[in-house]
Amino acid sequence: ANHNLFAALRAAFPADLHSTAVETTDPQGEPLSYSWQDLERGSAMLANLLASLGLPVGARIAVQVEKSVEAMLLYLATLRAGYVFLPLNTAYQSGEISYFIGNAEPAVVVCSGANFGWVSKIAFMAGCQYVFTLNDDRTGSLLDRAAHHSDQHAVVALDADDLAAILYTSGTTGRSKGAMLTHGNLLSNARTLKEYWGWVPGDVLMHVLPIFHVHGLFVAIHGALLNGSKMLWMAKFDPRKVIDKLPETTVFMGVPTLYVRLLQEPGLTPQAVRNMRLFIAGSAPLLIETFKTWQERTGHTILERYGMSETAMLTSNPYLPADGERRGGTVGFPLPGVQLRVVDDAGQALSTGEIGGIQVQGPNVFKGYWRMPEKTAEEFTADGFFKTGDLGLVDARGYVTIVGRSKDLIISGGYNVYPAEIESVINDLPGVAESAVVGVPHPDFGEVGVAVVIAQGGAPLDAAQILAHLKTQLANFKIPKHCAVVDALPRNAMGKVQKNLLRTQFQGMFG
Ligand code: ATP
Ligand code: MG
Repeated sequence: ANHNLFAALRAAFPADLHSTAVETTDPQGEPLSYSWQDLERGSAMLANLLASLGLPVGARIAVQVEKSVEAMLLYLATLRAGYVFLPLNTAYQSGEISYFIGNAEPAVVVCSGANFGWVSKIAFMAGCQYVFTLNDDRTGSLLDRAAHHSDQHAVVALDADDLAAILYTSGTTGRSKGAMLTHGNLLSNARTLKEYWGWVPGDVLMHVLPIFHVHGLFVAIHGALLNGSKMLWMAKFDPRKVIDKLPETTVFMGVPTLYVRLLQEPGLTPQAVRNMRLFIAGSAPLLIETFKTWQERTGHTILERYGMSETAMLTSNPYLPADGERRGGTVGFPLPGVQLRVVDDAGQALSTGEIGGIQVQGPNVFKGYWRMPEKTAEEFTADGFFKTGDLGLVDARGYVTIVGRSKDLIISGGYNVYPAEIESVINDLPGVAESAVVGVPHPDFGEVGVAVVIAQGGAPLDAAQILAHLKTQLANFKIPKHCAVVDALPRNAMGKVQKNLLRTQFQGMFG
């Protein structure tokens, strides 16, 4: 059998190829729609273009372009032609692109016309042979060249273990690493999610996420395609437009900040969500506050799940009530086929309710970090489990809770302090929008916590009062030794809070 992921996605296209696969608008806001036939033909032409270049087996196709349906077609074309897709965050500038292109040594680079000058220079210096342009208005040399190729293409036969993509991690805890994902990794995860989230005929996905990251590229696109489902595709997240179009869709996937922004819209009413089957959140912790407010406002319970570039999805709150309730503040159960365990520093399995490092194994777990054999070896245990770098616990009912990253753990006077616990108490205070607690060096305690707090819409907040309140709620060793009220938390291009920058900012505080 052919284990090419594209073959499985293609097999799920509806029988009527003339029906609509993607509905979107062009950059001017004019409606634009693509049939399944368009996806088939467009990806075939691009695959034939790639095949005509005589690239070596395993060649990387690096892509930094604005979100467009054509960019998705390029992803599908790369799969079907048997090459390795390497998406890059559109926010990355030349310093970052130099690192990624130098590190990945792609055979082909695709960038926007506007960036062609500097990107091509970096690419050619790194030995890349082909640089094409692709703009979000269907122009650029990539499509010009593809237009000369046949729209018939036989999907390249591959093994499940062949590489499909290299996904650079978000760089939240340090330099991004390239996670090597195989066709088997991606297909197994997509099939598991299709089943677990109860995709049904007639589902329509609202696609508002970027497509250079695991969430928008894999979870969302594979989900819709493997179900033969139409996508309503938005290149940019605009909360009003999303609410306008929600009645035409049944499934929504978003990172927590998107939910927060939707909640700020008066148009978000039970009427607006009347046709929705499922709201899914992930990529960062969903505040319990957001979870509850969403329930009150819409009558829908957000399903939170947990995953990462290296593994795609690992756990999910249940879809079916029979499997349990969706519990806010947790990321649900390990997905079918995923083994998850919590271990102490010595790697010994911990029991129910104890906090430790989360390790996982399953058909979705990646092959290793690109050109980092030592790092790869370090992050896998002798019995083949991957160390996620996240800390968490499994409760008596089997629900997994993430309490933060191991790198963010604070060890104060010999006690473990989990930032998430303190943050949630701070976030519950009136007038607090969000907070981050980080550890900084301290001469007596080794490390102590510093709380960085953001006020809600300019509400007056008093740092001393926040600390005084914490003292009534938490054991003394957990109380941050300093609290700063600031305007915004530093975030990376994926919107994740960069605690390493906060640590640097406050590290000299206690001498
Ligand atoms: P880097 O590995 O480069 O530091 P990153 O870990 O942020 O960056 P990603 O692979 O994009 O890169 O993100 C995966 C991480 O996101 C997980 O390890 C976890 O810490 C966090 N995450 C994902 N989903 C959730 C969730 N539902 N709740 C809490 N954290 C989550
Ligand atoms: Mg990571």
